[in-house]
Amino acid sequence: MASHIVGYPRMGPKRELKFALESFWDGKSSAEDLQKVAADLRASIWKQMANAGIKYIPSNTFSYYDQVLDATATLGAVPQRYGWTGGEIGFDTYFSMARGNATVPAMEMTKWFDTNYHFIVPELGPDVNFTYSSHKAVDEYKEAKALGVDTVPVLVGPVTYLLLSKPAKGVEKTFNLLSLLPKVLAVYKEVIADLKAAGASWIQFDEPTLVLDLESHKLQAFTDAYAELAPALSGLNVLIETYFADVPAEAYKTLTSLNGVTAYGFDLVRGTKTLDLIKGGFPSGKYLFAGVVDGRNIWANDLASSLTTLQGLEGVVGKDKLVVSTSSSLLHTAVDLVNETKLDDEIKSWLAFAAQKIVEVNALAKALSGNKDEAFFSANAAAQASRKSSPRVTNEAVQKAAAALKGSDHRRATNVSARLDAQQKKLNLPILPTTTIGSFPQTVELRRVRREFKANKISEEEYVKSIKEEIHKVVQLQEELDIDVLVHGEPERNDMVEYFGEQLSGFAFTVNGWVQSYGSRCVKPPIIYGDVSRPKPMTVFWSSVAQSFTKRPMKGMLTGPVTILNWSFVRNDQPRSETTYQIALAIKDEVEDLEKAGITVIQIDEAALREGLPLRKSEQADYLDWAVHSFRITNVGVQDTTQIHTHMCYSNFNDIIHSIINMDADVITIENSRSDEKLLSVFREGVKYGAGIGPGVYDIHSPRIPPTEEIADRINKMLAVLEKNILWVNPDCGLKTRKYTEVKPALTNMVAAAKLIRNEL
Ligand code: GLN
Ligand code: ZN
Repeated sequence: MASHIVGYPRMGPKRELKFALESFWDGKSSAEDLQKVAADLRASIWKQMANAGIKYIPSNTFSYYDQVLDATATLGAVPQRYGWTGGEIGFDTYFSMARGNATVPAMEMTKWFDTNYHFIVPELGPDVNFTYSSHKAVDEYKEAKALGVDTVPVLVGPVTYLLLSKPAKGVEKTFNLLSLLPKVLAVYKEVIADLKAAGASWIQFDEPTLVLDLESHKLQAFTDAYAELAPALSGLNVLIETYFADVPAEAYKTLTSLNGVTAYGFDLVRGTKTLDLIKGGFPSGKYLFAGVVDGRNIWANDLASSLTTLQGLEGVVGKDKLVVSTSSSLLHTAVDLVNETKLDDEIKSWLAFAAQKIVEVNALAKALSGNKDEAFFSANAAAQASRKSSPRVTNEAVQKAAAALKGSDHRRATNVSARLDAQQKKLNLPILPTTTIGSFPQTVELRRVRREFKANKISEEEYVKSIKEEIHKVVQLQEELDIDVLVHGEPERNDMVEYFGEQLSGFAFTVNGWVQSYGSRCVKPPIIYGDVSRPKPMTVFWSSVAQSFTKRPMKGMLTGPVTILNWSFVRNDQPRSETTYQIALAIKDEVEDLEKAGITVIQIDEAALREGLPLRKSEQADYLDWAVHSFRITNVGVQDTTQIHTHMCYSNFNDIIHSIINMDADVITIENSRSDEKLLSVFREGVKYGAGIGPGVYDIHSPRIPPTEEIADRINKMLAVLEKNILWVNPDCGLKTRKYTEVKPALTNMVAAAKLIRNEL
């Protein structure tokens, strides 16, 4: 019985690749240094899989930046502005596309399906000249072979590549990307020939777009593409890998009828209907790569249950055609549990990171072939049982309270326009009120204070004194700038989810549980393992301190339940909605405590609400329903005069505007500065928005200082579409990553622009 891994994290167990990349980019080390680190990481991963007994070990899943960018390099599809003149693509051109250079900005980056990984979006026009320009795939195959490991080279599938591309500038509206298929396939044929010549016997094409709702002409492109490649692929075993959801029935038919394909990979964790599809019909003589070990989470597999599933599948596809696999690339999980020194043994026994998942896959494969490692299976069963029964996981009061929420509606009793009137009487704000999103620059000094307090190197007294001083400084600055609704600047927070997770029950934190987000950037999501509750107030002290420094309204600052959920590793033993309701109840208590403490404006950030949207349209309404409901629960208990703000990142939410309205916040501030037009068009088309709204008037992701006239111009554009009495003026996100030398002039200009227009109104 065989085993397979779809793909593996690249960063290394201690983020070795990150540090090597950043040192190279800073000019502190050479290209050879970087290549050495990368080669060592690849070698250790291949050996680790080989030693574990994995039969189909992937290669070319390593990347210096991103696998889609690697495909762009392979195809030589470098946009003209990077000045590449041909030949093998080197670091210069490659990293310029990824990160920009002194004169040319980077290519666009976007989220890889519903993960937090971001890929570099190919830009293709009718005159792109595809040429085989990176031999990375075959080089890595040979490199592994030289180490004694025969691998399965992995390529981004040609159709997925085109479907994830965007048309180049100038042809946005007119260009049909799929028309490039023949040209792209010509290069794929060269790559395939190279791999064959090097001795490869298997090849894996990742075609995850097959799990989306595709129109029939897109499905047809798969049929055409693989028919065209079939002669080149003959003699090879060809695996088409899908992941992140089940494949829709139509797509399943297309997929399993593809020419020249010998194996299909499916996600059996997120693909809730995959089993039925397979049982409904699987082409005889083909391999099934059954993704039973979760690539997106950190929980140990329930081996007994997986084994039962796999045994059932044996009956359908035949014993010798079943391969045990991961549900997706392990890129989306943490690397190795071995490096977790702070988690206790009980929690550790419930977890499996990438390195442990490899062992699980192999154990399942061995068990299927009659070689069951009884000790391993019984240890696993014991851990599963302890997780089910642990009092750390279950809190009956919380379960009951959350269960009581379902099915009922929670909405503030008074409608938003009446609430805004009541709030205005109390707050007495000018027209076009100004505010910021929450965080102010985090200086080196500030980080040192937090770090030393955490490490018990400074006393609580010293810590509180430093943070108070910082808040005082930030409040004074905002008064000098004449901002209307103030923030405390979030100096006590390292991260907007971690800060709350550390104070809530049911959360655990890793030391090295990093997951690649983009390029060298990684995030370390908290682990939600148990029922969530709030032992005591989390932000009331600091918000009260901040309010005591000013007569102006000071915003309480909270992270919303959906964002906490979407930026954590979540429980797999209950629905996501249940966990979110529990978090919502904890945040609700905090909101009410803030109100009691005299805070009249409270912002509940839902930066990541859009991120959790399911890939398939059929599942989106349900998600939006419970996500928006959870948000409303947090503030259903406040008085009319308490103003609830929310903030959302990413401008791409025209399609969910009705859900945003349904959140029923009094004011929403949104990231928008890179595309006014897109956001405003939804209101131009007649969507009624009665609550306060602050589309960001400048981009905080750039160090550039926006001139007053430019901001004024943008405000005027917004006023053409939105009523003047609902418009707010604010930057598009928190200021945490900027410097004071940027923030002061930028906010000065922002306030000046608001005043300029107030005078004209
Ligand atoms: N209040 C947070 C901040 O200003 C919001 C950050 C975010 O939206 N990502 O930092
Ligand atoms: Zn934001």
